[in-house]
Amino acid sequence: MNIENIWNKFLLCIKERVNTLSFNTWFKDSKLIELNEEHAIIIVPTIAHKKHLAESYIDIINEIFNEITGTNFNIEFLLENEYYKDNNINTSNIDIEDIGVPFNSPEKANLNPDYTFENFIVGESNRFAQATALAVAENPGKMYNPLFIYGNSGLGKTHLMHAIGNYIIKNSNKRVLYVTSDQFINDFLGLNKRDKEGTNFDYIDLFKDKYRNIDVLIIDDIQFLGNAPKTQNEFFHTFNTLYDDKKQIIISSDSSPDDLKHLEDRLRTRFNWGLKVNIFPPDNELRKEIIRKKMANMDFSRHMSEDAIDYIANTCNSDVRSLEGALTRVCAYSTIFFEEEITLELAVDALKGTISSSTNFKNDIQKIQKVVSEYYNVTVEDLKSKKRVSNIAFPRQIAIYLSRNLTDESFPRIGMEFGGRDHSTIIHSCDKIQKEIKNNKQLENIIEEIKKQLV
Ligand code: ADP
Ligand code: MG
Repeated sequence: MNIENIWNKFLLCIKERVNTLSFNTWFKDSKLIELNEEHAIIIVPTIAHKKHLAESYIDIINEIFNEITGTNFNIEFLLENEYYKDNNINTSNIDIEDIGVPFNSPEKANLNPDYTFENFIVGESNRFAQATALAVAENPGKMYNPLFIYGNSGLGKTHLMHAIGNYIIKNSNKRVLYVTSDQFINDFLGLNKRDKEGTNFDYIDLFKDKYRNIDVLIIDDIQFLGNAPKTQNEFFHTFNTLYDDKKQIIISSDSSPDDLKHLEDRLRTRFNWGLKVNIFPPDNELRKEIIRKKMANMDFSRHMSEDAIDYIANTCNSDVRSLEGALTRVCAYSTIFFEEEITLELAVDALKGTISSSTNFKNDIQKIQKVVSEYYNVTVEDLKSKKRVSNIAFPRQIAIYLSRNLTDESFPRIGMEFGGRDHSTIIHSCDKIQKEIKNNKQLENIIEEIKKQLV
């Protein structure tokens, strides 16, 4: 009989002998991990399990093991991390006071409790990152070590890392520490400080305790270590110590390890040991999902029209942070003006003036307007105005044509961006330029010229 069969049989027997609550609390999540001639090791979820099983259930456990195998075993209960670190833990060392007291807390771990897996919205662009993050959270130290998450700013790296930490703290008594690389640098610089006697032993101990005496180290924005060569050396040693002890390390950066040119080779090599995960900008689908879910979670209830959702999702298309910022602004705007419904007009008004700074998308309508107006030496306001003089009307038609051809925007949305024009006017402008290009080589060249400036 293999070890798994024995444990399954054990569970069936013990289920008969204890009540459901006891079974679910004390046995369901425990597991027989080792069984040799006279020694059995059972891994249990918390220190409370260790103590309680050893004191209150040991007789019945022995009895059932004997029934199943015909042998008497010395049974030892261990936490998962203890099992992998050291099989000789003495359970009697555990202080009764420890039981029921969380070993770790979000504050001590430096975690933001608001960043959880539950409120991380998943789409194609971040699905892999989210899945690996959860796998690590469920199995720290064993799945992917280190886990290296990279991608542009505002895509959810910090959120995911806190989610891992919060999950681990909630579901185990592992010690978690989240720091930014700036914090690590600051702590390291403290090592050079001296007290009046010229020593700083206390500080060294504190530093070592903080960074070595943990089960999970989460370090955010590692690219900033590039400016601190001495700290890199210390981080190298911290990394090695934790890694050798099978402690989980989670790192984030704005670029892949291979592109972190200011970091020592030996660090980059180590970052490549585990799993590298790229997190991508949200696609349109995910942006809309984020808007809907975040709206649903807000304290006040406001209905947002579909075209307003489209507008915000299309305008804030680079990252989630700017999307959140736009949403907050639109909602604040609706509150100020006591609007019950967030319409497209309201969203456009609310985001006026913020758009160019919050987006850096190539073919955005605002960008097209800017480039075309500069090319023809008119203002963006002119393009949006009702003026019909040809030196303004013609560039306007070109800008409309480009907006239609270079973005995914609808005719009504383009009309909105060009001073609230009717969508038939927009269609007319597009057709007109389209026809003219065919017969006018010079215009074709001009359009190509403008397109180049949009890249
Ligand atoms: P990064 O660390 O990559 O710069 P953050 O984790 O700080 O990005 O994310 C920026 C903001 O966007 C945070 O408020 C975060 O909660 C939010 N955010 C990012 N991605 C998501 C997501 N998939 N679901 C919900 N909120 C997200
Ligand atoms: Mg971050």
